[in-house]
Order: sequence, then structure tokens, then C-alpha cells
Amino acid sequence: MRIPSHMASWVAFLGLILVGVVWLIQSSRSATAEGQATNPDVVACAITLGDVVSGRAQIVDLAYTLNAKTPHWPGDNYQPFQLTTIATLEKNGVLSKMITTSEHLGTHIDAPNHFETKQPSVDAIPPEQLFAPGVVIDAILQSERSADYVLQPADIEAWEKVNGRIPEGAVVFLHTGWGRFWDNYDRFKNQEVGGAMHFPGYSPDAARILVTERKVRGLGIDTLSIDTGTSRDFQVHHIVNAAGKYGLENVANLGKLPARGFFVVVAPIKVESGSGGPTRIFAIVPKKT
Ligand SMILES: [Zn+2]
Repeated sequence: MRIPSHMASWVAFLGLILVGVVWLIQSSRSATAEGQATNPDVVACAITLGDVVSGRAQIVDLAYTLNAKTPHWPGDNYQPFQLTTIATLEKNGVLSKMITTSEHLGTHIDAPNHFETKQPSVDAIPPEQLFAPGVVIDAILQSERSADYVLQPADIEAWEKVNGRIPEGAVVFLHTGWGRFWDNYDRFKNQEVGGAMHFPGYSPDAARILVTERKVRGLGIDTLSIDTGTSRDFQVHHIVNAAGKYGLENVANLGKLPARGFFVVVAPIKVESGSGGPTRIFAIVPKKT
């Protein structure tokens, strides 16, 4: 059968369109796969619980061990951590101890009710808020230059230029390097006699960006406070808590984490109506292959 020439060109035209559509679908698929493969948070998402329990993912413990020398907030009525033995194997056939601690001592969480009314206490933080992608912003050099350094919006911008936008719902950790003073409480709190402390923190402007624009779940730091040591009005605490978010203070081992691409598990003590409390924090980091 002879196909009229105008029909033949019509068939050829349809064929061309079909080839074009198939090519478009295939290339968009491979672009998506490529994008996912290079997005560090998606790589981290690929960690399974099987990887965690079999050791294929690395767990970094971000909590310090509690003892009588553990740094605490040096306010009135704050006491050092105490551990008292109340039964021994020799005497009682069982070892049992009692702990006495303020909520804001050692590695701990500041619950949203710490600085704001009508916000959840530590036991009422929704568990979903305690699992998050993690991000570390390195501010060691700035903190070495000035103990009163505070993270600026420009620092967030600079970090995102290198690492990409901070993922929504992240826990952001500010790594000031202050952990090197952990075993020396006086140096750690760096307090003038009867006066201000000097250690780095977040600026209110940076906290506002992270809370309202990046919609973080919480802000963490390796010092005594997410506000800088000289703060009197605790603006950063107010910004974080007013948004129903939490703070994590005296966080350990931030130097062992990548800038992004890991997960965080925050496990605070569950005390009814508590304003915070001692907290285990784990980072789940993909092992380099
Ligand atoms: Zn606190």
C-alpha cells in the first residue's frame, strides 16, 4: 500500500515527538537519581536501622559523662551533680545509687517552657521533634579570636554557600571548640570575679533566621548556653523557646561530625513539668566506604 506523502511526514513528525518525550522522561529520571545520590541528607536517609545495629553506620555519643565536677549553670541555688550509694553488693546484695542534679547541668536539653510560658515541658516535647537531620557550623577560629563571639547571619550564609541550605527540621550545632575546657570548670565558664561569663553563642539575629526561616527543631552548642556568656536578657533562649523549640547545651564531640549528612537522636530524661534535664544525644553518621 502506498502511503500518501503528507501522511508519511505526519507519521515521521509523531515519531519524533514520541522519541523526544521518552528522552525527556529518561533524562529527568537520571537527573533525579543523580541529585539524590549527591545530596548528603538523602545519603544519610539511606541509613537503615539494620545499618545502625550491625555497625555499618557510626554512632557518635554527643553527651558528657556526669560526675561531681561536671559544669553547671553557676546561678543561685544551682548545685553540682551528686551520686550517693544507697545499697552495696557487699552489704545489701545489690548495687544501687541515688542521683541529685539540677536540670541544667552537663549535656542537657532546655525544654520550650524554660524561658516561655504556655510551651511544652520536657516530658511533653513530641517524640518526633527529638529525631532530626544534623548540621554543624564550625566557629572555632572566631571563638579563639574572641570569647564573646556570636554566630552572625553572614556566617550562616557562608556555611550554606559551601554546604547547601540547612535542611528544614534540622538540629543545628554551633561548634566553638569550647569542649577543650570541659575538664576545667573555671576555664569553661570563664567568669569575671562575681561578674559576666565569657563564652561564644548564637546572636539573636542568627537564631531568628534558623528558627523562623530554616525551621530548625532545636539549636545546640558546646558551651554552657546558646546565648553568649555575657547575655543578660537571654534573647536567643526566648526566640528558640517562644517558637516551641529546644536548646541543647554542653554538647560533646562535635569535632567528630561532618558539617551535614548525619542524623541526631535526642533522648532527654522525662520528668513531669521539667524545664529540661540531662540528655543523651546520639549522632548517626554514614561510614565512609
Ligand atoms: Zn539549660
